[in-house]
This record gives sequence, structure tokens and C-alpha cells, in this order.
Amino acid sequence: MTAVKCLECGTEQDFEEAVGYCEKCGRKLPVPHKRGKDTVRKSLQHGPKAPEVGAANIIVTAILAIAGLAGMITLITVIIRNQL
Ligand SMILES: [Zn+2]
Repeated sequence: MTAVKCLECGTEQDFEEAVGYCEKCGRKLPVPHKRGKDTVRKSLQHGPKAPEVGAANIIVTAILAIAGLAGMITLITVIIRNQL
């Protein structure tokens, strides 16, 4: 529920329910400020540094995966050599 006041007739109504248009006069309702704030808040939370951290995590995960795989291959090679 996002209450917005119609600029034309002044009636308060739910923006989502009215689908952006006044139920009384049919005029376009102002976009609620709450949405804008939420967007700003989200962009602040997941700020410009977030993608960099994500990329760094992917690189670390990839290195660990490769290191793990290399270790596995080494181990398998040692086991096979011991069996022969
Ligand atoms: Zn209205």
C-alpha cells in the first residue's frame, strides 16, 4: 500500500490499486516518493563497490577451484603411479 494524494482533486488513494490514475477524476497520480527512496536506498546498499567485490569473489572462487582441481589431478597421478 502506497498512499498518494491526487494533485487535481486532492483525494488520497493507493497508488498500486489505482494503477497510477485517480479513481475520482481519472488524472495521472504523482509517483509516490517511497519508491524513489527505495531505489536510492538499494543503490546505496549495493553501491558501486558491490560488483567489484562480486568479481573478486568469483576470481578467488575460480583460483580455489583450479587449485583444488590441480590437487586432485596430482593426487590421482600419485595413486596411479603407486599402483603401477
Ligand atoms: Zn483526482
